[in-house]
Amino acid sequence: MKWILVVLMVSTQAFANISKAPVSFNSGANKAIFVDFTRVETTITYNLDNKKVLAETHIEFTASEKGSPLFDVVPSIKTATLNGKHVKITKIADPSKITEYRMVSAEIEAGSHKLMVRNEFDENVDFKGSYVSSAFWMSDLTDRKYLERYIPANLEFDQYQMTLNVKVIGTKKAELHEVFANGIITKNALNDFTIVYPEYFTTSSYFFHMTKKDRFPRSTFNFQSNSGKVVPVIIYAKYAYELKDAVKSTKEVLAELEAKIGAWPHPSLTIYVAGRGGMEHSGATITSLWALQHEICHSYFARGVMPIDGNSGWMDEAIASWRDDGYKSAKLPNFSTTRMSGQSNYKRFTDRKAYTEGANFMAYLNHKLSKQGGLIKFLAHMHNTYSQQNISTQIFKKELEMYSGMDFTADFKKYILGSKSEKNHKHSHAKKNNPYHPQLSAKELKDLL
Ligand SMILES: [Zn+2]
Repeated sequence: MKWILVVLMVSTQAFANISKAPVSFNSGANKAIFVDFTRVETTITYNLDNKKVLAETHIEFTASEKGSPLFDVVPSIKTATLNGKHVKITKIADPSKITEYRMVSAEIEAGSHKLMVRNEFDENVDFKGSYVSSAFWMSDLTDRKYLERYIPANLEFDQYQMTLNVKVIGTKKAELHEVFANGIITKNALNDFTIVYPEYFTTSSYFFHMTKKDRFPRSTFNFQSNSGKVVPVIIYAKYAYELKDAVKSTKEVLAELEAKIGAWPHPSLTIYVAGRGGMEHSGATITSLWALQHEICHSYFARGVMPIDGNSGWMDEAIASWRDDGYKSAKLPNFSTTRMSGQSNYKRFTDRKAYTEGANFMAYLNHKLSKQGGLIKFLAHMHNTYSQQNISTQIFKKELEMYSGMDFTADFKKYILGSKSEKNHKHSHAKKNNPYHPQLSAKELKDLL
């Protein structure tokens, strides 16, 4: 009985994931198909002698149709096998030419398969002689900047369990390393770790930072959540003098968000206070002291209730920026139209208008929902219903209509989905740099390691 239930749950989950994927498309003789990752294990080896990083990833996946499987990894691939046989992996653009993927050149039948990929990477890796620092720094404002920047991953529509093994080898004089991550960390041996990340994670969820042990000052405490659970919190910082304020600010925002939206949605909270602006992960963030509360809010919307693609990411920044602005109300939006969520279905990053027009649209929804207790009550409902799941704009709209009894079709069409004729869209969103998520230079990112 239990076994049947487990099988049913797994297959429902698998179906749910692939139903959120973009539409498969023709590529030459074969069909390029999106697939459902079921289990992933990656081993990353950092060699202090030759300063190379090698990743070997084993992916178990299910295809729901015949075709050539798509996935992504930005660094070049050394070798790959599919079901034990060597395969070529090619680069391929989506039909709207807004992004690129990797495609296994072999054609497979529907069913379960195994893919192995070996790649090297050097992004955000810093060899310092006797130790190495490395982190999965990410961005949701440019294309292909999630986990795929380092190791093979699926797109945001897919939630799957990943185990990450990390080893530092080479010189016998290697210093002790330590890992900060939003998964369960086990020390296997000296400089040999395993991190098991939660099953609900998508490519944009992971936090990983390894460096020399005890390099950063830190503060740890247990947060007693409304759910009854005790949440372990670790805050580490580049500069010790920021720790005290970071702890105060964290406790303040956790109390605010739990009271307004609901219980903390992740098993733990890891905060690295460093740099300008910040980036959110699921139950983790790298953030400046100034952006800390904005980034923790993202653990509810962005990395708690998660987007399925670039067209859904606007909700995350709109909600967090609406909170930053002080939960405002607006009788009407102060802009005429946007296509924040009306772009190519293959788009993988968030439109920057989300911070401004998006936040203003949330203020408008707050006004429209005033009889129902305002937008915050609706967001609490979304958190209760969809936490640890990924959603589209259409799901948000459908829930909003069911919750309020109002029809928002015209509003979404005008303010969020826009019309295909809106000109110069690509240029208008590319220029603005939001202070919460500024684009950092390669040197700035390396300084954070
Ligand atoms: Zn943000």
